[in-house]
Amino acid sequence: MKYKVYNLGNFKNIPQVKKLSEEQIFDMEVVGNVLPFKSNNYVVEELINWDNLENDPIFVLTFPQKGMLKEKSYEKMANALRAGLKKSEIAKVANEIRLELNPHPNGQLEHNVPILENERLIGMQHKYEETVLFFPTQGQSCHAYCSFCFRWPQFTGMDQYKFAMKQADLLVKYLKSKPNVTDILFTGGDPMIMNAKILGKYINTILDAKIENLKTIRIGTKSLAFWPYRYLTDKDSNEILKIFQRINDAGLNLSIMAHFNHYRELETEPVKNAIKLILKTGAQIRTQSPLLNHINADPEVWKKMWKEQVNLGLIPYYFFVARDTGAQNYFKVSLEEAYKIYQEAYSNLSGICRTVRGPSMSAKPGKIQILGIIEVNGEKVFVLSFIQGRNKDWVGKPFFAKFNEKAVWLNNLKPAFNDEKFFYEKELEELLNK
Ligand SMILES: *Cc1c(COP(=O)(O)O)cnc(C)c1O
Ligand code: SF4
Repeated sequence: MKYKVYNLGNFKNIPQVKKLSEEQIFDMEVVGNVLPFKSNNYVVEELINWDNLENDPIFVLTFPQKGMLKEKSYEKMANALRAGLKKSEIAKVANEIRLELNPHPNGQLEHNVPILENERLIGMQHKYEETVLFFPTQGQSCHAYCSFCFRWPQFTGMDQYKFAMKQADLLVKYLKSKPNVTDILFTGGDPMIMNAKILGKYINTILDAKIENLKTIRIGTKSLAFWPYRYLTDKDSNEILKIFQRINDAGLNLSIMAHFNHYRELETEPVKNAIKLILKTGAQIRTQSPLLNHINADPEVWKKMWKEQVNLGLIPYYFFVARDTGAQNYFKVSLEEAYKIYQEAYSNLSGICRTVRGPSMSAKPGKIQILGIIEVNGEKVFVLSFIQGRNKDWVGKPFFAKFNEKAVWLNNLKPAFNDEKFFYEKELEELLNK
């Protein structure tokens, strides 16, 4: 299949969209001017069920929905469009609204940039001891955009927010200087948007450097869900698979960290074929997804998705709570509800599927998992634990927060038992001010 992009500029030409009401189309235009909007012909033709749009998870996933903006913001942009403002003026309105949407949660930009020989390595993040994140410049886009994506400022032309860097050499130097690093995670955007020549260049540089401490290369990608033809019929599909094979031949693990939000994304022939070809290279595929209202806030969806993943040879890995950014208002699910959905799905699976961990909040101090909701001496509490911590000593030690039925994120939680602070807070402040 030949890749065809749909976005704000041409979405009205999609035959299925033409059948929608004028009002529906205008809503998409309003929201699509603020939040990233990009879909493609695979998503439109093979994933979305246009006969049941109201309830279609994949439609909500890549097409802007009115409810994603607060009413005030919606009106602001709608008025700008109705008034026929100039492009630059519309962009200004869009940026004003975006800045209200917490474009960089958790101090991603300031706090996690590594330093080598007194230089800040823009395009890399190093938060947890074993794993370095790398944002290759050419991988800062995606085959389609998820409407909830916390990396969305990277796609909206706000250049000052763009993390990116070209220097694979610097990366190698950094990895060699940190003997405790075992994993590098290519991320974005979506690194699999890169062509084989560029991806191959990065991978070869890393393999040729024979970095002794490096054991695993991970690639975070939504390509299996949004464009499985990446591995089937693109010009360089074979070359991509050869690169995967090469990593395996060099004795390193390759783990594709695949992003799937709904079992629908696993049902098509192309995705099944792509998975087979990737697994044949010796790579493993692990899966992750946030929990999202309007898309997958139902234990049945997760049960079915995880079972299907395991049937196809994938390894369920993370179940995330949606971040406090972008259209979180629209997608949010309370922590209580998140725990209930997770528990209901998790408890109804065979042990083989229970490799998944969650509900997990990727917050400033680390990845915090909700282990349960219980009562201790008459006080209802959340039991929490770090899956990953800015300090590794925090990992795996249960702690307690006051139960709060409205809480949707860590910043809504207070320590239980009238404690003043969570056990990690003082140290976290010290670490961040270093
Ligand atoms: C999740 C995450 C990782 C990887 O953590 P693992 O527990 O090894 O999967 C690394 N860096 C950041 C910033 C992360 O959020
Ligand atoms: S594929 Fe990933 S990076 Fe791209 S828009 Fe979706 S969540 Fe964001």
